[in-house]
Amino acid sequence: MAAITMNNIVKKYGDGFPAVNDVSIDVADGEFMILVGPSGCGKSTLLRMIVGLEDITSGDMMIGERRVNDLAPRERNLAMVFQNYALYPHLTVYENIAFPLRLAKKPDSEVDQLVREASATLELDEHLERKPGNLSGGQRQRVAMGRAIVRQADAFLFDEPLSNLDAKLRGQMRTEIARLQKRLGITTVYVTHDQTEAMTLGDRVAVLKRGILQQLATPRELYENPGNLFVAGFIGSPPMNFLPATVEGTQVQLPFGSVEIPADKAERAAGRGLLIAGIRPEHFEDASLAAEARSGSTFSAKVDAVEWLGNETYAYIPFEAPDEVKQQLQQLEKDLDGEAMRTQLVVSLDGASRITEGQDAEIWVDGRRIHLFDPATGENLT
Ligand code: ATP
Repeated sequence: MAAITMNNIVKKYGDGFPAVNDVSIDVADGEFMILVGPSGCGKSTLLRMIVGLEDITSGDMMIGERRVNDLAPRERNLAMVFQNYALYPHLTVYENIAFPLRLAKKPDSEVDQLVREASATLELDEHLERKPGNLSGGQRQRVAMGRAIVRQADAFLFDEPLSNLDAKLRGQMRTEIARLQKRLGITTVYVTHDQTEAMTLGDRVAVLKRGILQQLATPRELYENPGNLFVAGFIGSPPMNFLPATVEGTQVQLPFGSVEIPADKAERAAGRGLLIAGIRPEHFEDASLAAEARSGSTFSAKVDAVEWLGNETYAYIPFEAPDEVKQQLQQLEKDLDGEAMRTQLVVSLDGASRITEGQDAEIWVDGRRIHLFDPATGENLT
């Protein structure tokens, strides 16, 4: 097994904007690293440069201590697990797993030992004589991983392996891949455009936008401390709310009223004029249900629509934003590939809330969880 180190990696196709632009990522030995971002952000290109399916324009690609820029894919000792699993339909599970060993002309006894070990690890021993057509999606995925294991590859690379599956199977497979990766302790790089996969699978997540690394952090850090508007808007579902804001003392003035924030946050955002506040839907509550409401960060707002889901209630509250903020949010919407940026606030309240449409509702907001972004650069100031 090995660490993968990407130093200042650039990929240019022709004269255009680089598909990957000066990206540095270090994947520790045994780490599960996710590359995530909207379509066209360069995540697949980066993965293909790790495996050797794409030339590197500049920068250093290291696997362990070796610089692999000029090595052919098979010399890199990595195992790519493809979206369609690339299994041979006419071969049994046993022969599919054995395939790379047969290619390498290993003796039958060694092939048998490695295939049996891998299939035991993957709980495939009962299916060795079956053909891929008779397996579930999850089992097929495991066969593909078995093939990677027998090769004793230094790392696994996945390119959107779950994108063809329905939501339920995707959930199951996610759990399975996470479990196997931990058990095998093998260095893994996994490409997805799905932020839920990124958040649930990764030890760390690299968020890319138009070829540029935006933030490299643990899922919790991305959620709690997004570095900029893009990451803030990309991570979280339903997405973070963005509102025009100004800071006076330790108060943030929002379209609905003012909210008390911690002094250190206020200090970092002081004297900056118009800002964009980011607040996640779950950091609001029906004031009548919020124990913290006594702290005073409540406001009154007219609720336009309510959706009751049993365990939670979404309430929608329209607001006006100045052009400066609208422009930045329109740009963000483009960057996020059409993920809705709204001029209505979405708040997620406890399912016990009795808030109704058309009501002037008392809403509590957690001032400690408010982010303040520079509208020009998108940087998170707090
Ligand atoms: P998706 O999720 O849609 O696959 P991605 O984030 O994986 O997107 P890449 O496939 O890495 O993005 O593409 C990054 C950029 O490079 C895109 O603008 C794409 O159009 C461009 N690109 C990719 N492959 C080529 C190629 N062979 N020739 C020219 N441009 C390419």
